[in-house]
Amino acid sequence: MNTILKNPLGGNLKDAQIKKIEGFVRGFKLSSLTYKRIMQLLHEEMNSGLSKTTNHMADIKMFPTFVRSLPDGTEKGKYLALDLGGTNFRVLMVELNGKDVDIQSKTYLIPQRIMLGTGTQLFDHIADCICKFVNTHDIMGEKLPLGFTFSFPCKQEGLATARLSKWTKGFRCEGVVGEDLCILLHEALKRKGNIDVEVVAIINDAVGTLMSTAHSDRNCEIGLILGTGCNACYMENLEHVGLWDGEIRNPKQVIVNTEWGAFGDNGCLDFIRTEYDRELDTFSINPGKQILEKMISGMYMGEIVRLVLERLTMEGLLFSGVDRECELFVRGRFYTKYVSEIESDHDEFFRNTKQALDELGLEGYSSEDCKIVKYVCTLISARAAFLSAAGLATLINKINKPNMTIAVDGSLYRFHPRFHNLMCLKMKELVRPGLKFQLQLSHDGSGKGAALVAAVATRLRDNKIIL
Ligand code: ADP
Ligand code: MG
Repeated sequence: MNTILKNPLGGNLKDAQIKKIEGFVRGFKLSSLTYKRIMQLLHEEMNSGLSKTTNHMADIKMFPTFVRSLPDGTEKGKYLALDLGGTNFRVLMVELNGKDVDIQSKTYLIPQRIMLGTGTQLFDHIADCICKFVNTHDIMGEKLPLGFTFSFPCKQEGLATARLSKWTKGFRCEGVVGEDLCILLHEALKRKGNIDVEVVAIINDAVGTLMSTAHSDRNCEIGLILGTGCNACYMENLEHVGLWDGEIRNPKQVIVNTEWGAFGDNGCLDFIRTEYDRELDTFSINPGKQILEKMISGMYMGEIVRLVLERLTMEGLLFSGVDRECELFVRGRFYTKYVSEIESDHDEFFRNTKQALDELGLEGYSSEDCKIVKYVCTLISARAAFLSAAGLATLINKINKPNMTIAVDGSLYRFHPRFHNLMCLKMKELVRPGLKFQLQLSHDGSGKGAALVAAVATRLRDNKIIL
């Protein structure tokens, strides 16, 4: 990869300049040995999260989800689903009929003032959106079972009882941490007065993603999210889940929500963090938290790129004569979607790169500048993809089944042109020889997944099987 700058395409970068630039980005290139060390640390942290005696000290909480049965493809009926993932909020109506799934959905904006407001405001807003949706879809009188995909770290006490353990991904609504989300939602719906729904399950998006793919693929064992945040879940043997308080009866398994975005919060990843990672963290709303997530996910990747570009510009290595007022110098202004777009440029015209730079108000840049910008994007996306690969390889080696499907969802994975291939490349290196795997894009994991959990839950309840 370090040959990219020497690519004859642009041609005019001087060796001395390349060397200096390399000095500022070296920290993003990690050796295979380093990724193996990260896997070992992650494995230890996961075990510490799973054990009852050490969980209180563990950063990776390994929450048992109470989702213990995968769909079998016979699920039927009409369900409501909510998807609160960090960037978007959606209300969905999902009709399941065997392998056929019909989804109608509407996306609603969550304004920043609500993301940082009170819990009451947030849940009133959610209730409002449900009300509008139910009205426009003419299902006012029907009491539909609802599956709630709430993608923040939660401690589950039952399938439909989840307490928020902390906010992440730019949310910080007062009065929600420690509360039962189902009660908050029901209370908000009651305040609205006229909607009758029954929340039968609260899950997160990783679980929804696993469920959605498991609907048609029996080998699906892992769900991965690469969206606003980064998280993974997997099906674990109950005997390995020290936190499991219930009886150990069939099926002797439960999906564990790792919440691995918090890996590194105790400092164990400090040896790979760059100055840019530290700066991003300092200016985030949750400093010191979600260290792994901040090196991978869509909420942060563009900002890491921006910080590097800013540094190179200040050092006189990029964009000479740039206007200091331009938006390259504004925090949060370099969107992660630019990284995908820039990485899609394959010739010397740099069409997407130029468009992104134009949107940032940059003028008079050269082809060499475009080349450097692309190089920085390449390095930062590769590190993110390789870290995700190391996480998955840790889980795959732990589960140790001969052939596994990993369901993946989230805009970063979906739209980044090289993320999938980069991940596969690194996983082949890190997964134990003999274990086969495939990464499968999950279709609407959060919506279909929540409906499937709701369907499985109602089926088990109707059969008087208590979860
Ligand atoms: P959520 O995580 O809220 O469910 P998404 O899966 O859509 O939502 O992920 C949103 C994140 O994906 C945002 O942080 C955004 O920066 C990033 N993103 C959006 N479009 C792209 C893209 N084309 N390429 C890479 N990342 C993107
Ligand atoms: Mg999502």
